[in-house]
Amino acid sequence: MPVTGKPKGDQSVYLIDLHCDTISHLYKTGAALRSNQAQYDLVRARAAGVSLQFFAMFTRPAESNTCLREVLKQLDRYWLEIDNNSTELYPILQRNDLSNAQSQDKIGCLLHLEGAECLGGDLEILRVLQRSGLRSMGLTWNDRNLLADGGGEGARAGGLSRKGRQTIQEMDRLGILLDLAHISTASYYQALELYPKPVLVTHANARALCPHWRNLDDEQLKALAQKGGVVGITQVNDFIKEGGFATIEDMLDHIVYISDLVGVEHVGLGSDFDGADDMVLEEVSQYARMPDLLARRGFALREIEMILGGNAVRVITAVLPEGIIGKD
Ligand SMILES: [Zn+2]
Repeated sequence: MPVTGKPKGDQSVYLIDLHCDTISHLYKTGAALRSNQAQYDLVRARAAGVSLQFFAMFTRPAESNTCLREVLKQLDRYWLEIDNNSTELYPILQRNDLSNAQSQDKIGCLLHLEGAECLGGDLEILRVLQRSGLRSMGLTWNDRNLLADGGGEGARAGGLSRKGRQTIQEMDRLGILLDLAHISTASYYQALELYPKPVLVTHANARALCPHWRNLDDEQLKALAQKGGVVGITQVNDFIKEGGFATIEDMLDHIVYISDLVGVEHVGLGSDFDGADDMVLEEVSQYARMPDLLARRGFALREIEMILGGNAVRVITAVLPEGIIGKD
């Protein structure tokens, strides 16, 4: 769908990044979102033309109550940053907020949970987090938990548990985006079948070009496209080229490959800034180069707009609630 509103700076596009680990990084280091020495801050994101950012809460898998305490502290940090920067940040909670954030020239913030250990299988916790702003979630990080097996469990990993299936159904009811990055292959296909709306793979690349288990093979990409989903191309070297010595052209190869395989309408951006050390675009200010880089690889302006944000807007719009649940 077309996105209206005025562009930021000299950017003429709506740029959405589907994954950064900045909130957990800030929580750990005590640095500020506005300006810091890491890969992502508000000053550089605005200058690069970022319009909407998924902010992940992440804690390494552990006992569920331990994870919950950590996640709640990161949730607190997320809302403190929005409060402290309210002239430039705006929480995305419902469908209309997408266009509101753009018209106010603010960065829309979409709260994500990377791995749902903290739920411990309790849908009550999911509902509380949803009321606290959660709008996107992946069931697992790399490991097995009560809901599903993660991709790190290897080729013989299992799929969704009964609780995992219930969780996905509740996510659908609550208007929470489903992210299938990090999940096992069996879980991936089961979740795709169960969740009735388009899904995201917020940060992964094509396994045909880089045989890392975190990347999607051709069949997974085709199944994602059939459901109208979007994969966010990640900047992490290890997911771009085997051995890790990747270039910007190698990263663009993934965009071209997936566009050729399943269509440009299924490609987006999911940097993983502050989630890994070695990146092709080293930090968020480099996103300013994306329109030119894509144009040089032969994408038309309309296609560039789709990759940078339009495709993600389509999925977000299909999933987010029309109003805040529990409010008139
Ligand atoms: Zn990740």
